Amino acid sequence: MKKILFIATGGTIASAKTENGLTPAITSEELLNAVPQVKNLCAVDTVQPYSLDSTNMCWKQWIHVAEIIRDSYAKYDGFVIAHGTDTMAYTAAALSYMVQNSAKPVVLTGSQKSIYNRDTDARNNLYRAFVYAVSDSAWGVQLVFDNKVILGTRARKTRTKSFNAFSSIDYPETAVFRDTRLVTFLRRPADQPPVRFYERLEPAVFVLRLVPGMRADIIPLLAPHYRALVVESFGVGGLPGGEHGEMYARLQDWCTSGRLAVFTTQVPHEGCDLAVYEVGRSVKELPGVLEAKDMTPEAVAVKLMWALGQTEDREKAARLFETPIEYDIM
Ligand code: ASP
Repeated sequence: MKKILFIATGGTIASAKTENGLTPAITSEELLNAVPQVKNLCAVDTVQPYSLDSTNMCWKQWIHVAEIIRDSYAKYDGFVIAHGTDTMAYTAAALSYMVQNSAKPVVLTGSQKSIYNRDTDARNNLYRAFVYAVSDSAWGVQLVFDNKVILGTRARKTRTKSFNAFSSIDYPETAVFRDTRLVTFLRRPADQPPVRFYERLEPAVFVLRLVPGMRADIIPLLAPHYRALVVESFGVGGLPGGEHGEMYARLQDWCTSGRLAVFTTQVPHEGCDLAVYEVGRSVKELPGVLEAKDMTPEAVAVKLMWALGQTEDREKAARLFETPIEYDIM
């Protein structure tokens, strides 16, 4: 029988009603007891590092969860993490960069309703997270939700209320459950190197979502506090005013000071390409400007934190950012 470590961190799945609203209150043991069939699948140990609404999670918790996985990696065949849905895609991205090339599955799940609700999605999601984790085709950092298995670098929360809350963005799903059958589409490539753990993240990354007419002087205000800027631009990408605009001048100052700027798009699918329009082409030439192509916004921000955490050197961080990791960029 396989051995799985169950890591509970809170979220709606573990929430109970209080007079101030839903808050995590259910322990990891209680979660498991609510899905007794899990005991027939595998031997489970549990830890509960947090009991948090995932809105309250950030890079500190991502580092800690990655450490828990690293320190117990040899002892278990896989890991299941119960997590709030609101920032689950960020944690999934963070673990994808901090636990790379893992042959053992690291599976995140959660739910839209508490596990103690009568009409909950929690029991199905938790059970299927374990079914996937013990299956022989399981690998890498994945999110299991509403019968879908999605790569950690490709997952996004795309619905706030429905049970099918997560989508795989611009990439096929790893697997799906058809009724009780697990149908696997993506297997771990045979030539993957051994697992590699990373410990450091640099949180000084700011995401600037452009609005038509936005003032350019926001950029110098950010400079003292951040090493990298993610510019969520329009369409395939560009900067208002192009090469002659105020935004371009401020971005040039940003880049001259040794910082990175990554362009991405507000459009949910198909990514950016700064080379297409005049408003984008000159921006692409600035040293320190990168393109996120088809990466998810969560993966972009977290990959920058990871890349900046590995090196002080902008060019090295840029190369790390551009290198495909766990199918995050095409
Ligand atoms: N606010 C909750 C959380 O992210 C939502 C959920 O889990 O569905 O922790």
